[in-house]
Amino acid sequence: MADGAHTLPLPETARAALKAAVGDKGWLESEADKAPYLAEERGYYHGESALVLRPASTEEVSKIVTICAGHAIPVTPQGGNTGLCGGAVARGGVLINLGRMNRVREIDPVNATMTVEAGCILKDIQDRADAAGLLFPLSLAAEGTCQIGGNLSTNAGGIQVLRYGNARDLVLGLEVVTADGRVWHGLRGLRKNNTGYDLKHLFMGAEGTLGIITAAVLKLFPKPAETTTAMVAAETPQHLSALLTRLKQATGGQVNSFEYICRAPLDAVFTHIPGTQDPMQEKYEHYALVEMASGQKGVIRDLAEAALGEAFEAGEIVDAVLAESGEQAARLWNIRESIPEALKHCGPSAKHDISVPVSKVPEFLEKGSAHAERVIPGCTVMAFGHMGDGNLHFNLVMPQDTAPEDAARLREEVPPGVHDIADSLGGSFSAEHGIGLLKVHEMARYKSDVEKDMLRAIKGALDPQGIMNPGKVVP
Ligand SMILES: Cc1cc2nc3c(=O)[nH]c(=O)nc-3n(C[C@H](O)[C@H](O)[C@H](O)COP(=O)(O)OP(=O)(O)OC[C@H]3O[C@@H](n4cnc5c(N)ncnc54)[C@H](O)[C@@H]3O)c2cc1C
Repeated sequence: MADGAHTLPLPETARAALKAAVGDKGWLESEADKAPYLAEERGYYHGESALVLRPASTEEVSKIVTICAGHAIPVTPQGGNTGLCGGAVARGGVLINLGRMNRVREIDPVNATMTVEAGCILKDIQDRADAAGLLFPLSLAAEGTCQIGGNLSTNAGGIQVLRYGNARDLVLGLEVVTADGRVWHGLRGLRKNNTGYDLKHLFMGAEGTLGIITAAVLKLFPKPAETTTAMVAAETPQHLSALLTRLKQATGGQVNSFEYICRAPLDAVFTHIPGTQDPMQEKYEHYALVEMASGQKGVIRDLAEAALGEAFEAGEIVDAVLAESGEQAARLWNIRESIPEALKHCGPSAKHDISVPVSKVPEFLEKGSAHAERVIPGCTVMAFGHMGDGNLHFNLVMPQDTAPEDAARLREEVPPGVHDIADSLGGSFSAEHGIGLLKVHEMARYKSDVEKDMLRAIKGALDPQGIMNPGKVVP
């Protein structure tokens, strides 16, 4: 996919000033050194950047952006580079990787908050919260690599949104370097603060187009005392919808995750991922992986068992495996988390990250699958994802012998139809992975004129020179 990247020469005075701003450990200039930061997971894009800068403090980020603003040099922020939309791909100017800003500044157990720098790896934040006897619930398969700054900038979702919300729901305050290089000190740990516009929400989900997040105050939660995990099979997605409602009622809202998986991705996992096996004797068409948790011991498993028994009697499920140990639960989760890797072995695919109201998931699956069969004859629907949030990864795997040029063409042609179906059901063409470069044209297509005008007005007000991650998000 061509991305139209271009590099304007960096003025020598600016180059020298940028290097001085971050010191010897803070910049990379040779093509070999820059290469890992300019690569992109799916290989759709290749970054271009005169310098890769790795600041160690907010002050250094501020100096960099001040210099760039003075010369109108484009700035692309980057976290763990695990976003799958090309948002962290530099298209000229300088790339700022936040990885060296990885300090936990404070944990306040009474306020139940943790103040972290943007470059902290998500898994490290979870571990620090755990060591303090608390929970930071944001969790996704890339958590060993992605950074909290990237998570907040993409408003990441993951596997516990159903219970705890998206990344933006887990933040009380932010520190941001604005497009003119100034620092907004918004690191307040307040649960109530009604003083006009809530500016932090502008920067979350903005994918670095309005400023650079340098630190955040995160909300922490009590750790669950007991967790129970089940994999269930059902005849239709409608039955799984009914089960979700039943489990939420039965547990008083203590369902953390409700992940849908259709049969084909399971087959792909059992074929391609060593050490995995089907936990059930029979094969079915539709499955859900469910996790429930409570603050008290000896409660949630009984509630879950009783509710699943009732679901059997009501015909909502036809089979179920309730994990007997943490190890068994981990094996069930490994199946779900191995799906993206397994699909890489299955042939070229057109991927979609859509959301619809939870009640419309079955209708989306029915209409989306019919559409897929029409536009890619012989394709396999590999649908899975966060059904409890109405978010599906609707991947259409093409026959193995599809020629590369046909696959590339179909990747362009197929999504609009799938996105139209989501849109017609009141849904979204991008549920959790963001816009980046990949979906800017869909912003142009699906956002109303009023929305586009407001987006452009905000961008123009906060970044009048258009230097912050240009070409991303705003159509
Ligand atoms: C295996 C796998 C599983 C995934 N699962 C999920 C999932 O379940 N849910 C989900 O939501 N996503 C998921 N993702 C996508 C990705 O992990 C998330 O979008 C993640 O939040 C990106 O974090 P990052 O640090 O890698 O950001 P990057 O990819 O480096 O950057 C993402 C965007 O944020 C901007 N940015 C980064 N840091 C900053 C900053 N400090 N200030 C301002 N802008 C910044 C970048 O410019 C870019 O536009 C998955 C990805 C992979 C590879």
